[in-house]
Amino acid sequence: MADKDLNCKDCGNTFVFTEGEQAFYKEKGFENEPQRCADCRRAKKNQNDRGGRDFRR
Ligand SMILES: [Zn+2]
Repeated sequence: MADKDLNCKDCGNTFVFTEGEQAFYKEKGFENEPQRCADCRRAKKNQNDRGGRDFRR
């Protein structure tokens, strides 16, 4: 296994899906690769923590 470059679906940046993370995903039985970079995942989490509502205008 080697590190993999993936594209974030949210911001379009390239992020690294490391060997360790790949092993972790495999261990958990996840079939899908991550869709978002760490920043966007964190941003999403913060949003969810704020009441879980989608404030789209
Ligand atoms: Zn991103």
